[in-house]
Formats: sequence, C-alpha cells, structure tokens
Amino acid sequence: MTTSPTPPSTTAPASSAAALAATTAKAGKRPAVRTWSDLRSETATRRSAIPEGLWLRCPGCSQMIYRRQMEANLHCCPECQHHYRLSASERVKQLTDPNTFEPMWQGLRPTDPLKFRDLKPYPERLAAEAVKSGVNEGCLAGTGFIKGRPVMLACLDLSFMLGSMGSVVGEIITRAIEHATAENLPLVIVSCSGGARMQESGLSLMQMAKTSAALARYDEAGGLFISVLTDPTTGGVTASFAMLGDIIFAEPKALIGFAGPRVIQQTIRQELPDGFQRSEYLLTAGIVDRVVARPQLRTEIARVIDYAGK
Ligand SMILES: [Zn+2]
Repeated sequence: MTTSPTPPSTTAPASSAAALAATTAKAGKRPAVRTWSDLRSETATRRSAIPEGLWLRCPGCSQMIYRRQMEANLHCCPECQHHYRLSASERVKQLTDPNTFEPMWQGLRPTDPLKFRDLKPYPERLAAEAVKSGVNEGCLAGTGFIKGRPVMLACLDLSFMLGSMGSVVGEIITRAIEHATAENLPLVIVSCSGGARMQESGLSLMQMAKTSAALARYDEAGGLFISVLTDPTTGGVTASFAMLGDIIFAEPKALIGFAGPRVIQQTIRQELPDGFQRSEYLLTAGIVDRVVARPQLRTEIARVIDYAGK
C-alpha cells in the first residue's frame, strides 16, 4: 500500500491572522482602516500558504491528485491514467535512454519578412513566448537511443505558441528527416500542434509540402518513420508529416484532426458521433494504427524498429 500525503487544508493558518494583528498594533494605537487593496494583499498572503500547484484536480476523473505522484507516473493521472500534456524536453526525457539525446539545430530563429502584427508585432510575440515557455522554438530534435536502438527523434512543443508549425519548426523537422535519411536512422516524430503558424502565413503553409517531400525521399531510401500523435494534433501538422508515418501511434483520448469539431459541426450541420476525433475513434476508422498508453510507448517503438529490421 502506498502512502499518499493528505491534501492540505484550505483554511488560513491562524498564525498569519495573529501576525497581521501584531503588525497592525505595532503601526499605531489607532486600529488601521483596511482598504480594498489591503484586503486583496491579505488574501494573496493567505493563499500563498499553500504551495502553488502541489495538488491539482484531474480533468479526467475530477479527483485531487498529488502533482509529484502524477509526474512520477510519466505525467499520467495515477487514478484514471489521464495523459497530461508534455513539453518537448520532458517528452525526450521520457522516451530516450538516459544521457543519450543530443539536440540539433537549436540556434534556428524565424525571420519576419511579412512584418506581421496581430495584437503585437511578431518578433515581440516570439520573445514573450520564449520567456513564458523557456524554449526558443516549437520543436526539439536530435539523435538518441530508445531502449538501445539509435533513432532520430523530433518532438513538437505545445508550450511555444501551441506547437504551431512556422518556418523554423518545418525546417527542423525537414532537417531531422534528411539526417535520418543520410544516417539510415529510424525516425520518430512526436506531434502535438495547433496547426500552421498564422503569423508566418504562406511561409508556414509551405512547410507542409517541404516536410512531406523530405519524407517521400526518406521513404524511397527505405526509411522507417514512426509517427506518434498526442493531444492535440491538428491543422497543418495533421495535414502533412503527422499522417505520413509508416506506422502511426496515438496516445489515449488524444484530439487528432484537421479542423476542430465545432467548425465541422457548423459546416455539415449534423451531430458528430461520440469520441469524434479522439484516438480510439480514429483507430476504428483506420487512421491510427495503434493506441499506445504512455508507459508502453518506449517498448512499442523499440518493437516496431526491431520488426522492421532497422
Ligand atoms: Zn484522473
């Protein structure tokens, strides 16, 4: 039996109220009039008594789960196996053998030939996203080993502009494919993306053709491409390399599609079936070859590589 820590109580500790009373008394004899901003900062202090994010409510089973336990379980809920979204670096850590991954092409940065501006100019948005996510682009690629088999691995990163495919993401994916072709390595691409990056307009759409053409050359050279689809894989990524795998794995209950369900429903004006655009449904439709839970992913990839004789 495992001992799981008990959830912290949500009531404020009595000591903070006492400390507040003490400081008020120290400030002067007259009881201080509390303003709204005082109250707000008091509430903030009270809230911070609980370390933020130690516990979280699982969107799959609505249970309170302990974050460390979830992280130790490969970022899956220990109760219902809900698969949480991963950053590219965490994905690489989970998939590859320890200390075998060597990242490549991490210095690539997009230009802004369109001088695109939405709420803010594109370069400003890129800088803000880099600060927020701690990475410089939406794709991490490199060589590594999975259960002792050498592979070329590329993982999209949702934390950077929702893993959208701009010119840099497309370029890294293409170089990864070309490197796999030259070195005769099995290629594993883990996709999660909101689609093409609208800030780069036509340039990001061109990445669809570029990655697909590189995959065609890789296929002619006899390469093995394992495409792993995770939640969510949509838009231009689905419409290009993600669907071109020799074998396509999907994580359980991942949203995989081109346009979102709402857009489709509004267009065809029909009720969509249960589980529409989810991995299990796509498996029955033949779009996905196998639904693989995260703990089995390494084993399944290694098995396919062996099966294909790579
Ligand atoms: Zn759960």
